[in-house]
Amino acid sequence: MAVSKRIVLHYPKRLVDRPIIYQLVKEYNLKFNILKALFTQEAEGLMVLEISGEQKDYDRGIKYLTESGVRIQSLSQDVIRNEERCTHCGACITICPTSAFELDPLTRRVNFDNERCVACGQCIKACPPRAMELHF
Ligand code: SF4
Ligand code: SF4
Repeated sequence: MAVSKRIVLHYPKRLVDRPIIYQLVKEYNLKFNILKALFTQEAEGLMVLEISGEQKDYDRGIKYLTESGVRIQSLSQDVIRNEERCTHCGACITICPTSAFELDPLTRRVNFDNERCVACGQCIKACPPRAMELHF
């Protein structure tokens, strides 16, 4: 059975120069599309990937990534903003890998586009008043 999934990879800096993602193609017959890649403040790499291929190859590929030291985040979670808590400080804007936050230049308020969110959790740690919440 063919599958296509979006996942978030968190990996330590020591793995950045290794062709880990390339191996998914070469050894596991998977196709991938990098939706976003960046380094976080903790010098951890973060990559949002869309992976497609046969389920058994996907499972083997995920096992390989995990055993290589990559932490894989499920996207079955939902991140929402508690509007009463948000102070529109803007701390989340640059940290979001998918540009889900945008400053409205007229109102100076920070808009949150839930459709762009991949539930990576980066803004939860970065938000001073803890307005971003993870829901399962
Ligand atoms: S960091 Fe938190 S309080 Fe600041 S704009 Fe983003 S969601 Fe709102
Ligand atoms: S969890 Fe926060 S930082 Fe991550 S994609 Fe969603 S809005 Fe952006």
